[in-house]
Amino acid sequence: MQILDGKLAAQSIKDTLQKKISELPIGFRKPCLAAVLVGNNPASETYIGSKIKNCQEVGFESRLIRLPENCSENILLDAISSLNADSTVDGILVQLPLPKHISESKIIELIQPGKDVDGFHPVNAGKLMLNEPCFVPATPYGIMLLLSHFQIETSGKHAVVIGRSNIVGRPMSVLLSQPGNQGNCTVTVCHSKTPDLPYFTRQADIIVAAIGKPEFLKADMVKEGAIVIDVGINRVEDKSKKSGFALKGDVDFDAVSKKSAWISPVPGGVGLMTIAALLTNTYRAFEHHQQKN
Ligand code: NAD
Repeated sequence: MQILDGKLAAQSIKDTLQKKISELPIGFRKPCLAAVLVGNNPASETYIGSKIKNCQEVGFESRLIRLPENCSENILLDAISSLNADSTVDGILVQLPLPKHISESKIIELIQPGKDVDGFHPVNAGKLMLNEPCFVPATPYGIMLLLSHFQIETSGKHAVVIGRSNIVGRPMSVLLSQPGNQGNCTVTVCHSKTPDLPYFTRQADIIVAAIGKPEFLKADMVKEGAIVIDVGINRVEDKSKKSGFALKGDVDFDAVSKKSAWISPVPGGVGLMTIAALLTNTYRAFEHHQQKN
């Protein structure tokens, strides 16, 4: 078993970005990511904090716009409009989930597609389907970068993606089936209504588990020599930890790793790649804005 080490792969991407920033002429504007956080959900706080910290590490500018949990939809829409109009902002991300009284789709659809570094805007989602240049959602994009870093050959393989969310499972299935590097797979998408899930997963050369259930994928669901990518981030109560919880993936790592050829750990796998992909998207938005000006 070999580890798809997100720490190594993400660091290599961040080193490349950092070098690009250090080569910008003195006084030149740096790429800038604006993150919007509504309320103070502890997991969202952690994710946003980590994204901002990673921007600083590579030398990007970042802005954090905090709004209270009870802020109106119009206030959030106004905040997005200002960021759209601000020529010093390259990427905009709105941390999800939003409070129930705010329409996520309305907010996402207002973000300028050229600044939509999360790749959630319908224009980017549509272009992804058409295999046109676009911002790809950071988690599936990060998985593609992880596969590429470890030179995993995917062409002709059978990939089973478990989960069909708009931010992970669905775009992941599109990317793996596209022509090109780390694509060319035959893809099966499984979800909560799939009967006999193990029937499908046991046939898989590659499994991407994006379910949201701790240690859901067991060893008897995986064939010998499979490549297993664990997207799950689940907080499981653990009184021995200072925080009171431990992070678990969707894969029973200890058992599955004994059978798999490659496996990504949690933490230290896809989560770090998601941030590296977000930074890559932000840098691309920055380059594009430079070319336009
Ligand atoms: P989601 O809840 O939107 O989707 C979960 C999917 O799992 C659904 O499509 C559902 O059909 C499927 N599912 C649920 N139960 C199932 C079952 N018994 N059998 C087969 N399929 C089943 O979740 P999501 O946003 O796609 O996230 C999935 C997981 O990935 C979560 O743990 C989330 O925290 C994590 N995540 C991690 C990152 C990262 O950066 N590593 C990013 C996004 C999400």
